[in-house]
Amino acid sequence: MTTVDDVRELVREARAVTVLTGAGISTESGIPDFRGPNGVWTRDPDAEKLSDIRWYLSSREIRVKAWKARIEHPAWTAKPNAGHVALAALERAGRLHTLITQNVDGLHQLAGSSPERVVEIHGSVRDVECLSCGDRAPMEIALERVRGGEDDPPCKRCGGILKSATISFGQSLRDDDVERAQRAARECDLFMAVGTSLAVYPVAALPDVAMMHGAPLVIVNAEATPYDAQAHAVLRDPIGAILPSLVGA
Ligand code: NAD
Repeated sequence: MTTVDDVRELVREARAVTVLTGAGISTESGIPDFRGPNGVWTRDPDAEKLSDIRWYLSSREIRVKAWKARIEHPAWTAKPNAGHVALAALERAGRLHTLITQNVDGLHQLAGSSPERVVEIHGSVRDVECLSCGDRAPMEIALERVRGGEDDPPCKRCGGILKSATISFGQSLRDDDVERAQRAARECDLFMAVGTSLAVYPVAALPDVAMMHGAPLVIVNAEATPYDAQAHAVLRDPIGAILPSLVGA
């Protein structure tokens, strides 16, 4: 059986680590995940509609709910935790190839990870995008309008529907982000999946790409994932406790 010490050694010897993070790395910062025991969707299955582009485009009611949820989003007050900080330290040590995150909260960059090393594969809640003309602007400007009484603020440029610059179900990922993520999976000498249920495709295919190119897979996640049987090691410890000791931060 692979022990924590074995994984620590693996990380120490690695020269190009690709890390894929999910909502689980931010729960210790007070941002709930979707599918964990206290996940947003576990508690309210209807909340899934807010992340579905078909509902968002067709229902004003859903958009109004989505703007309320954005106003109250925990990301505005959340601080990076020891897990985010450990990954920034891995980069400073010169051993991080790429940090691919499914998170939209921006906490990796706040912890000190360089924006050019991070692929925000599902976008960011810190910007808004017009679904008609593609205009992009800081989220805060739109939130000001919502606080001022516009419950579904339209694009100022073309009148189109505005949405956070995140990838909802039914929307395609950006080609250049997918290309960078796949390259990072192919080129790494260790792939770590941290705080993700590995349930959302195409991101969930990345561990397979890495393993096919010879990199061992280490999973750090409290619950089972579909990759556990193929992983070199699976650690169930809380991320904020185990990650700093794994990367020697
Ligand atoms: P997920 O909700 O499907 O899975 C999170 C996993 O993390 C769960 O298996 C849970 O057991 C584990 N986990 C939670 N806290 C942990 C901890 N402290 N230590 C160890 N394990 C822990 O998340 P996902 O795979 O990222 O997929 C959800 C999608 O939702 C993503 O695509 C993401 O875009 C989005 N999302 C983002 C945020 C965010 O930005 N913080 C929050 C919720 C959802």
